[in-house]
Amino acid sequence: MLVKRFTNNWESRRSALTTHVPVPTLRRLPLYYRELKRAASQGLTHVSSKTLGERVGVPAVQVRKDMSYLDQKGRPGVGYEAQSLAAHLRDFLGLASEKQAVLVGVGNLGRALALYPGFHAYGLRIVGAFDNDLDKVGQRVGTLEILPVEALGDIVARLQVRVGIITTPADAAQDIADALVAGGIKGIWNFAPCRLAVPDGVFVKDEDLAVALAVLSHVVEQ
Ligand code: NAD
Repeated sequence: MLVKRFTNNWESRRSALTTHVPVPTLRRLPLYYRELKRAASQGLTHVSSKTLGERVGVPAVQVRKDMSYLDQKGRPGVGYEAQSLAAHLRDFLGLASEKQAVLVGVGNLGRALALYPGFHAYGLRIVGAFDNDLDKVGQRVGTLEILPVEALGDIVARLQVRVGIITTPADAAQDIADALVAGGIKGIWNFAPCRLAVPDGVFVKDEDLAVALAVLSHVVEQ
């Protein structure tokens, strides 16, 4: 299999997979979605671009521009219809269709992610948890029994899982990515601090709290 090494830059990878919506806009859409759902649950039928912008932390003009990429217009003086815009965003972002995921590395971080209930709202359901620690295999994390990592590729292929979450140490991550790819995975959410080589057509989203922490650290040192 031809393996291509991508840059570690999420934007460049993501933009390669999308068409007309700029990446900064894509990154704001889930925030709009969350705030529209919150507004609807608070009994608001309509939300203005100003209010939505305040809730997300961008100017109203930015909200309107972002929505224009989705052909969504608010009514002047009234705003966006909260429920229908939330539904539109949910469909656009593919949140309505459930995506099954497996998680590899049930340590501190993996356990926290596996137990977090909030991913359901974003269509993500973790259906398998794997580890190579024989003391952990057979134990439970929430409702899941922790399975041996050797079974990873087979189970991913059998269940046609499309998302893999890597929460192992960095030195194990590439082998796990290879096993996930061999099983047919389409997207990897990688928390290990390393670059993964994946074939064309597989999307990697790297997550690194250290980057955010470095910014925070720099700012508070001033
Ligand atoms: P941890 O040591 O608590 O857990 C790691 C787990 O991976 C353990 O259960 C271990 O048995 C398992 N493991 C190791 N090798 C494996 C393999 N080959 N196959 C399957 N399982 C294997 O570590 P942690 O604190 O949970 O951190 C996990 C990873 O997440 C590390 O790479 C860490 O650097 C990273 N991390 C990232 C962020 C972030 O912001 N992205 C934050 C915290 C931790």
